[in-house]
Amino acid sequence: MSRKPIIAGNWKMNKTLAEAQAFAEAVKGKAPSADLVDTVIGSPALFLAPLAYNLKDDVIQLAAQNSYFENAGAFTGENSPAAIADLGIEYIIIGHSERREYFHETDEDINKKAKAIIANGVTPIICCGETLETYEAGKTAEWVEGQITAALKDLTPEQVSNLVIAYEPIWAIGTGKSADANTADETCGVVRATVEKLYGKNVSEAVRIQYGGSVKPENVAEYMSKENVDGALVGGASLEAESFLALLDFV
Ligand code: PEP
Repeated sequence: MSRKPIIAGNWKMNKTLAEAQAFAEAVKGKAPSADLVDTVIGSPALFLAPLAYNLKDDVIQLAAQNSYFENAGAFTGENSPAAIADLGIEYIIIGHSERREYFHETDEDINKKAKAIIANGVTPIICCGETLETYEAGKTAEWVEGQITAALKDLTPEQVSNLVIAYEPIWAIGTGKSADANTADETCGVVRATVEKLYGKNVSEAVRIQYGGSVKPENVAEYMSKENVDGALVGGASLEAESFLALLDFV
């Protein structure tokens, strides 16, 4: 089965409104056709509404970097998945290792968020990945399998077919030290095998799996040539418009 590639930038907590809008102006009209690749900008929540306006006629889509699992209520400071959906945002990244580490998000939270996001018609990008310690202990596969099994709990086959999973080894995020393409392919393959074990072959062949961790224009094509890598989640190299667009040159 051929899966459409998906390249998503993750700006993390960077940029001013003026910088975000200048980026949108610089990339507008320059991404390849949406028939060939899904191109996504993961912006801080504050800039999603203006960016949705700036890019309203463009193929570039937007992602929030997190949301809560309730749609409304007394949850000061949180962002509602229903409100994000209402802005026309297509994706919400959940379970990023920075959220797990600094904001103590658990697999259970991530599962609740996935359900709430899907219920609002938005696509979750569910992150998983191991620490350097786990990697060096040779326990990556069991770690990632555990994270994915917990994140997908009680989702239907159709829901899982349509979501995106990002495998991001923590030791490769923002370090300049990327997992080589074969290692990335192997662990993305573990993610796919986990989905197959839980949901069967059709679902595992449909779900899109990204690699993330120091992906840049110079190495993206090699990752994208691998069987189990359907895209990339990119931090540092997504911050400048020129570099972001160069990530799409493999298409
Ligand atoms: C990320 O933030 O998800 C990421 C992979 O960052 P970087 O590309 O900078 O390693």
